[in-house]
This record gives sequence, structure tokens and C-alpha cells, in this order.
Amino acid sequence: MLKFLLVFCACVYTVTAGKHDAYRSYSVHNVQVRDMSDLQLLQDLQLNLGVDIWEHGMGGVRDAVVMVSPEQARSFLEALDENGIAHSLHIADVAKSLEEHENDLASYRSSRQNRMIFNDYPRYAEVDAYMERIAATYPNLVTLVNAGPSFEGRDIKYLKISTTNFTDASKPIYFMDAMMHAREWVTTPVALYSIHRLLENRRPEDQDLLDDIDWIILPIVNPDGYEFSHTDDRLWRKTRSVNLNVSTECVGVDANRNFDIAFNTLGVSPNPCEETFPGPYAFSEVETAYIRDILFEYLPRIQLYNNIHSHGNYIFFGFGNRTLTPNAVHLHHVGSAMGAIMDTMKLFQARFYLVANSGIVLYPTSGTAQDYAQEIGVPFSYTLELPGYGYGFTVPPWFMAHMVKETWEGIAVSARLARIHYRRRFN
Ligand SMILES: [Zn+2]
Repeated sequence: MLKFLLVFCACVYTVTAGKHDAYRSYSVHNVQVRDMSDLQLLQDLQLNLGVDIWEHGMGGVRDAVVMVSPEQARSFLEALDENGIAHSLHIADVAKSLEEHENDLASYRSSRQNRMIFNDYPRYAEVDAYMERIAATYPNLVTLVNAGPSFEGRDIKYLKISTTNFTDASKPIYFMDAMMHAREWVTTPVALYSIHRLLENRRPEDQDLLDDIDWIILPIVNPDGYEFSHTDDRLWRKTRSVNLNVSTECVGVDANRNFDIAFNTLGVSPNPCEETFPGPYAFSEVETAYIRDILFEYLPRIQLYNNIHSHGNYIFFGFGNRTLTPNAVHLHHVGSAMGAIMDTMKLFQARFYLVANSGIVLYPTSGTAQDYAQEIGVPFSYTLELPGYGYGFTVPPWFMAHMVKETWEGIAVSARLARIHYRRRFN
């Protein structure tokens, strides 16, 4: 019996201890980028060495955060030193920090009796059950729509929330989605909390948000990647599509480079094994095609599209090639109002929100959801980068109760301002 127990324990230990072994001795570095040429160097290192940029810095203002494998570390740090770029160690062993993150989650969950779905990191099935329950509880306000299956066959669902069943064209539509990038776990709770505040816990002062605006909320764009980030690889970013004509070695595409706008031109890697591989062609991924279809189905009325990511406390608007839209001033105004209200509630560990054209202040991109929605005619299209609180993608769960509340305030402000602009558009 003792022997059996020992064998059993050894197995359990191996499974738990081994889950993050792929990241053993990977390290994460803060990089003090000074200007655009430093940012360009990082982009080149991403392309040539394959380092994983967790956060693009802003020259002279914010550090970049970069993860490197043990094999990449030497060349990476040498390149920084040769160019006189200061850097410091942020995480010495990524595997160890992922194990700590998992322990945090386990102790958080065991200490809580009434677990709210949006104060945690719910799996796909839990989110699905929540949306089904909401739709069943509020049949007069909610329609649950199945956009279709993901590459691996998980249904990608969204809620339509409306007091008039989406029939009143005088109301603008606010469309938000989350979890396009699998490892950005904090994003789905924000979408779920928005559903909660519009329906289950609507406050009298927010009644206008339900009465005057129709909502489309899609909490998990990339369910395959999200589940994979729970079961196999916590830092997985891409979709999980397999295309043997593209690669026999690596799977998945960066969904936020896969939209049909300047496709495969800026901020992308031609290597299917890299994090920013845009795919073989625009909308090669069913997941991004569903977002395109939703945008077109409701296009004349979608006033604001909020594509939610993490991390870094940024609100970005188009275009990723450093050009601005004719309504850039209004875009900046609504984005700034959203950032400002969230800043009033910020925790000390978070940065202030920075609102800008991402191509101008950070790095050029192409094929993003934000740019695509803007280009086809959504007046206010944003990428919202939620806080990381210094933890990157693995934010401890006890931050979530605050983060969802803070972000909801930003969403509410942007919705009200977008509504004002919508009325101007038609009057
Ligand atoms: Zn992202």
C-alpha cells in the first residue's frame, strides 16, 4: 500500500510540476526604450531571434517587457548592451512564476465561498453556462447568438442586450469582445461583468445605458486558445488552427493580425511559429471571420467597437500604419474620457491610461480588429489594454474584483459619449 501511495504521489507531483516546464529558465526583462529606434531594435529582435514581447514600451516613457528563452538570452542582452539600452531582470524563471500564479489561483478559490464568475478566471464551459443562464433569465432583454464553431468546434457565442430587440435604429450599438489573445485572461471577466451590470445588478443611474443603447457582448473570441492556455501552455496567444500547407511544426495564427486591413504588412512575422504570424491570408481564421460578420451585420448602427486586450493600460485607436482617421480628435476625446474615469479609480500598482494612436506612440501594426472596424465604418474603434499591475498576463485573481468595476466605469462613459455622437450623426 505504501509503495502504491508513493508511486501515486510521484505521478501527481510530476504532472503538476511539469506543466510549465517548457518555460523553465525563460526570463523576462524590463527594457528602457528611449526612442523609436530602440523600439525598432526590439521589433527586429522579435523577428530575428523570436523573443516574445509582452509589452511594447514607449520611448522615454515606459519600459518594454520582453520574455526570452535561455538560448535567446545571451544574444538578446548583448544586442541591448551594444546599443546602450539599459535593462533589468523582471522574472528570473518564468516556469516558477507560472507555478506561483497557479498556487495563487488555488488558494484564492479555496478561500472564497461565493465565487462570482467575473472575479475569477472561468473556463470556457463556465462562461457558456453563464451566458445560457442569463439568456434564460432575461428573455425579454437578451438574445443569445451562436456565431458558429471555433476551429476545434467550440461554439463562439455572444449576447445581444436590448429593450427593443435591436429593432430601434435610433439607438447606437456598443460592441465589445474579449479574449482574442488566449493568454490575456483578465479580458473575459470584464465582458462578463458588463453583462452583470447591465442585467443582474443594474443600478438606477445606469438605466439609460440599457434603455438608449443596444449591446453586443462576446466574452471569448478565441476559445481554443483560451482552453489551451488553461490545459497546456499558460502563455499561448494565437488561435489553434492547423494548416499543414503552412507549417507541419507550429499551429495557430495571431488573430489580431488576421483582419483584412493592410494584411501582412506591419508588425507581423512570416514565421508560423512566431507569436505575430498573421496567417496565410486575411480571415483564414473562423474566429476573426465571425467578428467581421458581426461588424457587417450591424454596421450602420455599431457606434463603438471595443476590442479588449491586456496589458499595459493603453487605449489605442487607428490606424496601425501611423495615419489618423478624419475623426481622430473625437476618437481621442472619447478614449481620453474612458481612460480618465478609470484612472480616478486606479490601484497604485497600475499605470495611468495612455490614449493614443498605437502606430505613432508605440509600434506599427497591420491586420488588427481595431483598424478593420474603423476602416469599414465604425466611428469609434478601440483596442483597450487592461492593467497588468506588474504581473503581465498572470494577474493574481484578487485584483479582478477591482479591475472589472474600474473598467465598467470606462465602458459606461464611452458608451454615453458614443451615444451623443450617434445622435449627431443622424440629426
Ligand atoms: Zn492582445
